[in-house]
Amino acid sequence: MKIKEKSTKIIAILEELFPETPIPLNHASEFQLLIAVLMSAQTTDKKVNQVTPNLFEVGPNAKLMSKLSVETIQSIIREVGLAPTKSRNIRNLSRMLIELHEGNVPNSFKELEALPGVGHKTASVVMSQAFGIPAFPVDTHIHRLAARWGLSKGTTVEKTEKDLKKIFPKELWNILHLQIIFFGREFCPARFHDLTKCPICSWCATKKRIKKEMKSSINSKNS
Ligand code: SF4
Repeated sequence: MKIKEKSTKIIAILEELFPETPIPLNHASEFQLLIAVLMSAQTTDKKVNQVTPNLFEVGPNAKLMSKLSVETIQSIIREVGLAPTKSRNIRNLSRMLIELHEGNVPNSFKELEALPGVGHKTASVVMSQAFGIPAFPVDTHIHRLAARWGLSKGTTVEKTEKDLKKIFPKELWNILHLQIIFFGREFCPARFHDLTKCPICSWCATKKRIKKEMKSSINSKNS
């Protein structure tokens, strides 16, 4: 199947399965979204949504957050993975926003990625979800699915992002990255895949990959 045909079919399936794409991380401002996304590395969105109400009560914006001590932030977000580093980044990032951007979240990759704890993926999520600027944030799940669906042979998330941006129309990037995440959460179990029963892999994955996945599935079942 040609890649254009494949991508058109994937878009149609995802659109039918997930016509709505609500932003998974709760927030009331661009600043709060940035903080929530920064916290979401190495943890679940659910866990982040559990701690942000208390955090945003005392630090709803860059000005008030910058006045909190790292210890205070850490005590509030302690259940989130890597809490000590994230707490330091949240405080320092808030100070930088005050010093450099009048407390506002900048809407450029360059300025976002210059903030502590903000890598390309976090910046992409903020550009896409806070500002509606087309971006394709690729996390490990999207990276894995792009390979399974035969959309990218990328060995890094950077290469996968480039490939997906070439394949899918720009105006759909912001919706598609969420739809693929939702699809992965709902359909893709971590282990024991039967690719032939999947709404996408069953027709989209190459025979070679189906064979490979089935074999590793049987091996992990037997181990
Ligand atoms: S087989 Fe289906 S469920 Fe498994 S990775 Fe592929 S898309 Fe996800």
